Amino acid sequence: MPSIAIHPTLDSGFKATDAAFSGGTLVCNCTSKPVKVRVKSDIAHNHACGCTKCWKPEGAAFSVVAVAPTENIEVLENGDKLAVIDPAALIQRHACKECGVHMYGPVERDHAFKGLSFLHPERFQETGWAKPGFAAFVSSIIESGYDPAKMDGVRARLRDLGLEPYDCLNPVLMDLIATWTAKKSGALKTHAA
Ligand SMILES: [Zn+2]
Ligand SMILES: [Zn+2]
Repeated sequence: MPSIAIHPTLDSGFKATDAAFSGGTLVCNCTSKPVKVRVKSDIAHNHACGCTKCWKPEGAAFSVVAVAPTENIEVLENGDKLAVIDPAALIQRHACKECGVHMYGPVERDHAFKGLSFLHPERFQETGWAKPGFAAFVSSIIESGYDPAKMDGVRARLRDLGLEPYDCLNPVLMDLIATWTAKKSGALKTHAA
């Protein structure tokens, strides 16, 4: 048992990635009439997230969250149990009203992430999805009440797990957002291909 708990799927040793993973069905926590959401493609940018907005399982300091194209997401069953947590937020987190699990969160606003939906791959009934590749918004766990004196240990544990800790997103995603912003403002010229 590690002294610092990050997330159940990571603390207990992660199952090997299946290179052939091509999506699956996300299921909420309800024992009766669970919400089921089909994801018809692989996921990308899977990471541990310390922000206060992501859904986390009981006792976890971090969520595990990834994206898939919204066009590949389809609510299969019991969609009437879904409600958007905060309609004003960039990510329209659709959560089960009964168990609270966030099932998918599309970005519909004009943004670098428009067209993508955030989802929690641990809710897949299938295994084989890609391991988280980094940890985002690490300092934000303090906002949920985590002891600031333990942050060195948290970052060391994340590195042990192969998750480089960042206090925002990783350089790949930060560059992607900045590039989108610079093209929009005209600071970066877009050339027709
Ligand atoms: Zn539920
Ligand atoms: Zn988050």
